[in-house]
Amino acid sequence: MLTALSLSAAPGPQPPSPAVVLLWTAVIAVMAGTAYRLSIRRHPYRPCRKCGESGKHRGAVFTSSFRACTRCGGTGRELRPFASEPDRHS
Ligand SMILES: [Zn+2]
Repeated sequence: MLTALSLSAAPGPQPPSPAVVLLWTAVIAVMAGTAYRLSIRRHPYRPCRKCGESGKHRGAVFTSSFRACTRCGGTGRELRPFASEPDRHS
């Protein structure tokens, strides 16, 4: 325990300069953005948060009655943030 403490307190390499920290932050942000862009291209939808993928809005009294969910239009899915509608041509 004492050695670990003294090791961490020992004068090691200099802390990175703010420019290096900023650069790495930018690199990581770009990599995360690229990964997210690939992900939303492959899977642009997520379950609708209002109806939970059922696409139905149930009646409060007659619970077997339903209409199409207003949020997703009855599809039960919604686009993920920054995702666009996939083109049907490809
Ligand atoms: Zn819905």
